[in-house]
Amino acid sequence: MTYRAPTREHLFVLRDVLNIEAYANLPSFADASMDTVEAILTEGAKFVEEVLAPLNAVGDKEGCVWSADNTVKTPTGFKAAYDQMVEGGWVALGSDPAFGGQGLPAVVNVAMSEMISSANMAFGMYPGLTHGAYEAIRAGGSDAQKALYLPKMVSGEWSGTMNLTEPQCGTDLGLIRTKAAPAGDGSYRISGQKIWISAGEHDLSKNIVHLVLARVEGAPQGVKGISLFIVPKFLPDANGEPGERNSLVCGGLEEKMGIHGNATCVMVYDEAKGWLVGEENQGLRTMFVMMNEARLGVGVQGLAQGEAAYQAALAFAKDRLQGRSLTGPKNPEGPADPILVHPDVRRMLMDAKAVLEAGRCFMLWTALHGDLQHSPDEAQAQKARDYMGLLTPVVKAYLTDRGFKICSDAMQVHGGSGFTEHFPASQYLRDCRITLIYEGANGVQALDLVGRKLAANGGRAVMSYFAEVDQLVGEHEGDAGLQPFVDGLKHAKAQLQEATYWLMQNGLQNPDNAGAASTDYLHLFGLTALTHMWLLMAKAAQARIAAGDHDPFLSAKLVTGRYFLERILPDAGGHLAKLKTGAETLMALPAEAF
Ligand SMILES: Cc1cc2nc3c(=O)[nH]c(=O)nc-3n(C[C@H](O)[C@H](O)[C@H](O)COP(=O)(O)OP(=O)(O)OC[C@H]3O[C@@H](n4cnc5c(N)ncnc54)[C@H](O)[C@@H]3O)c2cc1C
Repeated sequence: MTYRAPTREHLFVLRDVLNIEAYANLPSFADASMDTVEAILTEGAKFVEEVLAPLNAVGDKEGCVWSADNTVKTPTGFKAAYDQMVEGGWVALGSDPAFGGQGLPAVVNVAMSEMISSANMAFGMYPGLTHGAYEAIRAGGSDAQKALYLPKMVSGEWSGTMNLTEPQCGTDLGLIRTKAAPAGDGSYRISGQKIWISAGEHDLSKNIVHLVLARVEGAPQGVKGISLFIVPKFLPDANGEPGERNSLVCGGLEEKMGIHGNATCVMVYDEAKGWLVGEENQGLRTMFVMMNEARLGVGVQGLAQGEAAYQAALAFAKDRLQGRSLTGPKNPEGPADPILVHPDVRRMLMDAKAVLEAGRCFMLWTALHGDLQHSPDEAQAQKARDYMGLLTPVVKAYLTDRGFKICSDAMQVHGGSGFTEHFPASQYLRDCRITLIYEGANGVQALDLVGRKLAANGGRAVMSYFAEVDQLVGEHEGDAGLQPFVDGLKHAKAQLQEATYWLMQNGLQNPDNAGAASTDYLHLFGLTALTHMWLLMAKAAQARIAAGDHDPFLSAKLVTGRYFLERILPDAGGHLAKLKTGAETLMALPAEAF
């Protein structure tokens, strides 16, 4: 079974649901006519299917190899594929033309990222991290730093990393110990150890630009004393080419459960030369640019693994013959029916299909708001910024939780074959698992949502989201074809609103109530957002049907949407009931009672 890019789904959302051509007034959309976007995504699909997907199992089996000279060799075929990606301009798709990028909107770039990640998640992390580092330097770097580093990172000639984690510090970045000492010439000397640094060392690019969080001597304790540094593997020479080797090495690789093709490195900095990005002690603010971008990227990874696993499970379910349909043989000539006839197998596949289609729409809808942050219309830009703040934790945690569940169900559909390494289900499940952990574990995303994002600017973002949903519901109330979708969204939003008010009253009174409610609240938000997307998709499908389009793709959309309303959305009530019980029993037992 080989992965096939869901180009038709992408085009349906971009054209029929989001109508991206309506944003042609924004610079990044100027060259994004649907014809152009279709050509790019079709070509991109070909690249990921033919070049990246065949290397996925190779990367899993071979992994990366560290040598005592501190070099890392990536799996067979990765270097050639990376060169092809650079030559094809795929790394530069969404980057600023001022630095050599193609300037396409995020909404198109995210569709491409999904395909790359489905085809080969471990490979996709190399250019993915580079793009995050590019965004951080673009947001916080000096003009000279941008001129020196960004063109090479945009092309993919140089790659990037993000160095936060240390042995004693993961979620709590206030515990960072890596030191930075001013060298008197404008540069700093960075010393310390970072762990689990993705793409920290490899043989794909000519230089690696590490973004490192460190503490300047005498800086305040905690997160207020953290600064961000550019620490390149090779120091750029007078011509901006890789020169002298910097004093940093990869001290080893981590043995791990999945993404074997991506090097997860211990990085040792021994008075390495680095340059401050922005101001001292303000590092976390700039790093958040990279982290927010990366969080959306991780949500995309979760969805992408779910899609690839679903495709594999569907192919297996059509092929594997076991038992007979409860309503009589469907394959009377054969010894048994394909397992797709069994309602319980259907349940797993329909769950996946209904969540993936709406999840993809949510991911692209959110990416469009990423683009709209740059709208000349300030009201539109502010709303988009509010949404990005509010929804980033939902995209990250909800899509990865659901993606992993889909991968687990895909293994179940495969039966024992899925647990063996003869089928790809095992790799998808293993690769997907990290998405729930890195870039801020999902529980921490949920805390960010209830603790910071809801309350920001007096709750402006969530109120604006409720108003948008109310307006959509109002516009379609009474439309017979859409009524189940309208009712579903109205009900989901009412439950989300009730949960939000409950949090406002009970979370302030006892912060443990907010913590105890956070994951259920995030899932309730995710369900509401996906119901919202189903209304938008049903509306788009119906409009085409009403115009005489009899494509079965459109009627299947409506059936899948109704399945979501009947069999997935009811979980919203469970989340509301659970979160309203608060922290009492959750926190009651003393540690010794466990
Ligand atoms: C394969 C891989 C690649 C990685 N790549 C990178 C990278 O490129 N760069 C980088 O800097 N790091 C990277 N990491 C590190 C990763 O981001 C951290 O593992 C992650 O942020 C969690 O930190 P931790 O492992 O220290 O868990 P801990 O912080 O020890 O947390 C353990 C558990 O406790 C929970 N928890 C902790 N604090 C709280 C709290 N206040 N409230 C509620 N729950 C809490 C967490 O949700 C988690 O479930 C990578 C890790 C792996 C495994």
